[in-house]
Amino acid sequence: MLSYRHAFHAGNHADVLKHFLLVELLTYLNQKDKPYWYLDTHAGAGLYALTEGYAARNAEFESGIARLWQATDLPEPLARYVEVIRGFNPDGRLAFYPGSPLVAQRVMRRDDKLRLFELHPSDAKLLADNVATLGRQAQWQQADGFTGIKALLPPPPRRALTLIDPPYEDKRDYRHVTDALEEALRRFPGGVYAVWYPCLSREESRELPQRLKKLPVKSWLRAELHVQRPAADGFGMHGSGMFVLNPPYTLAATLGEVLPRLVALLGQDSGARQVLEHHAA
Ligand code: SAM
Repeated sequence: MLSYRHAFHAGNHADVLKHFLLVELLTYLNQKDKPYWYLDTHAGAGLYALTEGYAARNAEFESGIARLWQATDLPEPLARYVEVIRGFNPDGRLAFYPGSPLVAQRVMRRDDKLRLFELHPSDAKLLADNVATLGRQAQWQQADGFTGIKALLPPPPRRALTLIDPPYEDKRDYRHVTDALEEALRRFPGGVYAVWYPCLSREESRELPQRLKKLPVKSWLRAELHVQRPAADGFGMHGSGMFVLNPPYTLAATLGEVLPRLVALLGQDSGARQVLEHHAA
């Protein structure tokens, strides 16, 4: 079941939360002068045109990245993320939005490596084209990322960030996320793992953060950005979340500053709100 195409959603509020956090996590890893790997289980196409094709149809980016594009006085961590996106739009007009592999690569250093998985044949082909210029720094496979990461953990440099960002159109993805993390933690307990999830009315979505909290890690962080009230009919995504295992100790404070600003910028009705929870043993 591969009907999902990320291009329809490129640059929306969920991408903003996810990619802002991705920039933060990698910036933190950069503080140590030792290489790391970035693993992306569901990489997508890598780069999206916003003014034509799928992304232009519903123009979800207009209530996402476009609102930050215009904003002034952004908190420094948020400004750092917007700078990454500006790097793909050098003439100053918002026309392209990078996917997680290219967001990550912009922040990473020359010796840090990307290992990417994308199952959809068309998006895997686009991904291959979009990372071709990175040469040996990036390797990609048209394969299932949930099982594909097993062979890469632990990674040779013993430092890694893994992003798990499935479509969740198939509700088995919720179970696959926790199963993949249990296995990943067995193989590489010290890695940083970031999971994106949609905030929906469906039971699996509401239960996922509670199930992630039960994984055997010393510290975790949960950040959600709800942009609107849940729809009366129970359908549709009213927000999204990122759950980070082994987060940097500074991340909760950064989010305490940034999430209220994201609520103000991206909120669509009076249901807009944030959730921030963290735990350290
Ligand atoms: N991470 C990307 C980003 O932030 O730019 C977006 C990824 S999108 C939400 C999910 C992607 O996972 C889709 O491109 C879909 O084709 C792909 N996909 C679905 N099931 C997969 C699987 N089991 N393994 C790898 N990729 C999969």
